[in-house]
Amino acid sequence: MIPIHPSNIKMAEQYCQYTLKLLHDNTPYDRRVFQTGVAAHYILEVLGKKANQEQRELSQEETTETIETICKELVSKTRYYDGVPEPPMPLQDIHEAKLITEKWTRWNTLPHDANYEEEFAFDKDMNPCTYNDPNAIFRTIIDMVHVYKDENQQTVAHVRDYKSSWYITGQLDNIQRKAQAVVVWMKYRPDVLIMDVTSIRTGQSLTKQIQALPNEPMLYEWADFIKLAALKLTQINKLIPQPGLNCYQCPFARSCRFAVEFANKSNHVVKKYSAAKALAKSLESEVKAITKDNPVTQGNTTVGYVAKETKALHKDANEDILNAALQAGWDIYEIFSYINMTRTQAEKILKDLPQEQRDKLEHVLTTKITTRFGIHK
Ligand code: SF4
Repeated sequence: MIPIHPSNIKMAEQYCQYTLKLLHDNTPYDRRVFQTGVAAHYILEVLGKKANQEQRELSQEETTETIETICKELVSKTRYYDGVPEPPMPLQDIHEAKLITEKWTRWNTLPHDANYEEEFAFDKDMNPCTYNDPNAIFRTIIDMVHVYKDENQQTVAHVRDYKSSWYITGQLDNIQRKAQAVVVWMKYRPDVLIMDVTSIRTGQSLTKQIQALPNEPMLYEWADFIKLAALKLTQINKLIPQPGLNCYQCPFARSCRFAVEFANKSNHVVKKYSAAKALAKSLESEVKAITKDNPVTQGNTTVGYVAKETKALHKDANEDILNAALQAGWDIYEIFSYINMTRTQAEKILKDLPQEQRDKLEHVLTTKITTRFGIHK
């Protein structure tokens, strides 16, 4: 039995339960986009554990030095996730992880008495077990769990999840957060849970406090949902494919025979279109890589990059045109009548104007509803 992670439950909800069968069968899928995050998480784990070892917070110099060493190590070292070797990390992703962790640690410290990358696992009756226990049906690893007594002698469990993405909205109420709250609550029985999602890219943190006692019914309900989902999703050979609109952006679309069959055979033209788009999208990055230097041509059709003339402006164009117009005796309003200001440009100007002027311009930014064709997810 392969234990289920919160991300697996999310995948089954977002696409279909059959994704877990494909994952279990080691069906290849593109994970390259996650590599900066993987590297950044590893850096923060090592920094946190080093602070624990030293029994004090690390200085800025120690932090910078340690990040440097870890990045050198990441270039050559093979990492494993649940015993499965990870593909080598591209140098660009390691470099990006280095930059964002250096920046984040300049303003944030890691406690020296927290658990980093703490493992949790439960069996079919939701009894805790070791992470690699063959009876585990559910397991998860949390980036940081810091349990301490606050000034009122309440036990607080601060549960932090690092994200390397720019946007973290909507992350406080998802299945991952619920799973983290449940497993930490079951293990430490704190009075208060602080659920924290931190973007190490922007420094933004979203937090939510859960008082454990009054919220016990909710925590039990979440635990029941996780147990049910894990019991169902661990029955790998009984998972049913649901090809259709949900195949769009499914990481397995390119290798899933049900999506391919659906794209070829469905009688429902919209579903057929969506499955075909899902397949095309899942193949796009590979097709781009293959055709980067050698476009593929058949008859008068080419797939790949072709040279195309694009009209552009010289870097000094704005200044040169403005000066020429002023010399010709035009005033600023006349010049403006030729220019169509975009919303982004207006926002930039507003941002830099004094508050008093900004207040007078509230009406200029408007919102209207338009329709846009496509597959929206
Ligand atoms: S491609 Fe479609 S049918 Fe196949 S696993 Fe993904 S969502 Fe399910």
